[in-house]
Amino acid sequence: MAQRLALPASLDVVIVGAGFGGMYQLHRLRGLGLSARIIEAGTGVGGTWYWNRYPGARCDVESMQYSFGFDEALQQQWRWTERFAPQAEILAYANHVADRFDLRRDIAFETRVTSAVWDAGRAVWTVRTDRGDVIEARFCIMATGCLSAARMPDIPGRDAFQGATYHTGHWPHRKVDFSGQRVAVIGTGSSAIQSIPVIAAEAAEVIVFQRTPNFSVPAHNRPIDTEYERHWKDDYAKKRGEARRMRTGILYELNDQSALVQAEAERRATYERRWQTGSTQFMAAFNDLILHPAANETAAEFVRDKIRGIVKDPKTAEALAPKDHPIGTKRICVDTGYYETFNRDNVRLVNLKETPLDHITAAGVVAGGVEYPVDAIVFATGFDAMTGTLTRIDIRGEGGQSLAEAWQDGPVSYLGLMVAGFPNLFTITGPGSPSVLSNMIVSIEQHVDWITDCLGWLRQQGHASIAAEATAQHDWVVHGMEVANRTLYPQAASWYMGANIPGKPRVFMPYIGGVGVYRDRCAEIAAAGYTGFVTGGPAQGAAAAE
Ligand code: NAP
Repeated sequence: MAQRLALPASLDVVIVGAGFGGMYQLHRLRGLGLSARIIEAGTGVGGTWYWNRYPGARCDVESMQYSFGFDEALQQQWRWTERFAPQAEILAYANHVADRFDLRRDIAFETRVTSAVWDAGRAVWTVRTDRGDVIEARFCIMATGCLSAARMPDIPGRDAFQGATYHTGHWPHRKVDFSGQRVAVIGTGSSAIQSIPVIAAEAAEVIVFQRTPNFSVPAHNRPIDTEYERHWKDDYAKKRGEARRMRTGILYELNDQSALVQAEAERRATYERRWQTGSTQFMAAFNDLILHPAANETAAEFVRDKIRGIVKDPKTAEALAPKDHPIGTKRICVDTGYYETFNRDNVRLVNLKETPLDHITAAGVVAGGVEYPVDAIVFATGFDAMTGTLTRIDIRGEGGQSLAEAWQDGPVSYLGLMVAGFPNLFTITGPGSPSVLSNMIVSIEQHVDWITDCLGWLRQQGHASIAAEATAQHDWVVHGMEVANRTLYPQAASWYMGANIPGKPRVFMPYIGGVGVYRDRCAEIAAAGYTGFVTGGPAQGAAAAE
């Protein structure tokens, strides 16, 4: 193991996290001539793609789009092999980016930030780590990811289990061999839906414990052919530009028509065509699927019918068909052979709605009074999404207030970029920004560019600090809620709403107004001299920027 990078006592910027956000931020800050280091808990770069190594893990945004667009040579030279890149290839890409831009020399791996405390008098953050580092930095940029705080459910007896346990979000860095094993999978979100078919192909038996079914559409993954690659690369900059204007930051075919204007047969043909194309673009079949319950129901019923057509056992099919939330209001899953897997002899579904999960024993999982003996349990139970990675760090802003306290009624922020009372602390793809409702790399690039411009502007203006104004933050939060409430999203008990974490306030966390609209708003605010932000006096703290 290489020696860990020594961290200086004083820096312009501490960046937390070496995923795509942290890496690009470091690259941009170097361009600005600021001293910066990334502090990263893992042994390598890649963030979510470093941790989530479960079988079948792959991106649900097409590879040609789920990649950096800031460097023409990079996007021309890197070659993806599959329409939807597997985790290992995305991790290889992250490592390539780190090497290509010589980022590792400024990354302290295997180091976890434990606290960050603001000193208003000196306008510096004091950042502490689990290695005993104490660093003073003028700015903190949290590139901690939206889905990085893995969540183990509090199931009684969990620690009594004598077999192996895994969480999809913290998968071992070696191949886990399930051959000949009986495996329980708890959860049926995206991670489970991707991993179950792969585990089932290897294990002797797979028992899926499902509390709530999710809608899934096929990926139709395939190798990338040269023609498709050229289609993107011949015109990459233009296509990236178009994607940045899309609501999701993903370029795909839109249909500006209501689902309710087409006759039943024609509508089903539209869905069928989308189903055959595969991926999340299914939800763009019509323009009102996330707005109008009746429109949504036509798509939901189409997918339920698909499930009934694929899964041979009618009881299992009905249990797998979601009926408790509008389609798309929980992140739609993208799978390879998920529903087909339930036709295998070695796979069965335990419907926890009928037979609730009681507890875990030394030998297995008990549901509805029946013990299911297994050799391994895979917890595909998700994350404390969007806020978990931030509130797990003891972040203290003005007056010693912690971020966890500031967010006790749900996360508030201005633009998802800054939180009032926490000057000089930026959140990349924080709650209140499009983040998880978008192509994350598109949103990361926009946030990093905005933050970099902001730091350049502060230096030019001679300001030591910048903070979100409470009124601007309030208006943004209200606007975010208004936009969300115009949609069906708040109807689902989703992790977007914090509903998967007991006691977490129910607030719709990402901004749903669309990537294009959001980008314009951020740009206007910057162009107008950072309206809604308040700046503070001349730089006098640690390592003042040149
Ligand atoms: P998730 O969507 O939050 O799913 C967690 C699952 O665990 C749910 O089915 C949940 O059931 C179940 N669960 C939690 N606690 C339980 C308990 N005590 N007993 C029984 N079941 C329990 O988590 P995820 O699948 O890891 O996905 C999270 C997000 O990560 C996705 O929505 C997506 O945005 C992202 N992701 C993306 C990809 C991709 O790009 N392809 C892949 C994986 C993940 P309930 O619904 O009843 O709570």
